[in-house]
Amino acid sequence: TLQDRLSDVFKGLRSKGRLTEADIDATMREIRIALLEADVNLSVVKGFISAVKERCLGLELSKALNPTQQIIKIVDDELVGILGGETRNVRFSKRPPTVIMLAGLQGAGKTTLAGKLASWLREQKHAPLLVAADLQRPNAVGQLQIVGERAGVHVFAPQPGNGVGDPVQVARDSIEHARRRLYDVVIVDTAGRLGVDAELMQQAADIKEAVNPDEVLFVVDAMIGQDAVNTARAFNEGIGFDGVVLTKLDGDARGGAALSIARVIGKPIMFASNGEGLKDFDVFHPDRMASRILGMGDVLTLIEQAEKTFDADQSRAAAEKLMGKNKFGLQDFLSQMQQLRKMGPLSKILGMLPGAGQFKGAIDDIDEREIDRIEAIINSMTLKERDDVSILNGSRRSRIAKGAGVQVSDVNQLVNRFVEARKMMEKMASSMGGMGGGVPAG
Ligand code: GDP
Ligand code: MG
Repeated sequence: TLQDRLSDVFKGLRSKGRLTEADIDATMREIRIALLEADVNLSVVKGFISAVKERCLGLELSKALNPTQQIIKIVDDELVGILGGETRNVRFSKRPPTVIMLAGLQGAGKTTLAGKLASWLREQKHAPLLVAADLQRPNAVGQLQIVGERAGVHVFAPQPGNGVGDPVQVARDSIEHARRRLYDVVIVDTAGRLGVDAELMQQAADIKEAVNPDEVLFVVDAMIGQDAVNTARAFNEGIGFDGVVLTKLDGDARGGAALSIARVIGKPIMFASNGEGLKDFDVFHPDRMASRILGMGDVLTLIEQAEKTFDADQSRAAAEKLMGKNKFGLQDFLSQMQQLRKMGPLSKILGMLPGAGQFKGAIDDIDEREIDRIEAIINSMTLKERDDVSILNGSRRSRIAKGAGVQVSDVNQLVNRFVEARKMMEKMASSMGGMGGGVPAG
């Protein structure tokens, strides 16, 4: 997947202290391949690579971040840009009802989305009305009625027995109905075809004219690959839309094509669907999607905070000690811990690390008071003791325990845990090579 590829790229970089132009070129080549393999639109990839490269070459060396972290940050920034930048919320009309019209090919997931949207709006104390303006497919109305029942919202539909009916008229009538019955959002479900065709476009355009929507949402199946971009273009030219909804992101599609729509068409992705259930749906946040693609958890937030609070020189000194130049002692441990604490509650910081999900339980268990105790114990030691725990005999340990107001067994436990942790860190440090900063970057 794109995630795996990019994380390999960054892993390769991480072993470097400083980056040369050749390193940057090689990295850009890898990222380019990764994006193309994920089916991201070619012109989008080109623009992306040149923007990232330009910014990488103009890098001012940041004090807090190593070059890899800086590149990750740039890649992330640009990715957020491709995905549309800011989260785009529904624009509610000042004069209700707000009208949301759904358009897209048959099978894209419009009717399913109508239910999801309605249920989401209900949770926000809106009073939505679903409108069955798809009178093309046999039983399309019935499907919307089932969806409406599940979401607990009313469906406005042509009376049965009146023949096929006119979807434009139904849509028009629904607005009047909503106004009279005080529904404040109207969601108009329309018909789709298997492919783009003129008749379909005309009908959608007529409905649009009849209901004058506040938002036209183009709904597209992320599994259709590059056709997603082409279809989006056709719909934008045919009827014009305000935002995009990606569906079926739960499928095994690579999804890159659909993610290119925002940049190619210049319209924001507003929602994403990832399943058939009512709840399998979310507001689309470009920044969250970007960090998910980069496979970095919220490491980017961490990098940002580190930039603000971390003293790079100090952490580099600690890293060098880990590398064996000087032995890493409890004093270093204490100052690293204090640096970390400046960034916020430890459980939160650890929770932002990539892969932290695996130890979620353990992280939630971290007790800040425990950390206070550790600090108290280290503070009760002489500098010499902090530097070399091997001199901690029984009488020193009991003096420290008294000073810190803890049991000798607490001191023993800390020392043992520190020695074990140091062994592990030394192993990690040597396998990672000369990583510059002190922040774990994934
Ligand atoms: P419409 O023709 O645009 O109204 O599409 P429908 O809402 O009828 O959806 C077509 C099919 O796709 C149905 O079987 C839905 O259950 C399914 N579907 C819709 N959205 C999603 C989704 O996000 N994930 C998955 N896996 N299936 C979806
Ligand atoms: Mg439908």
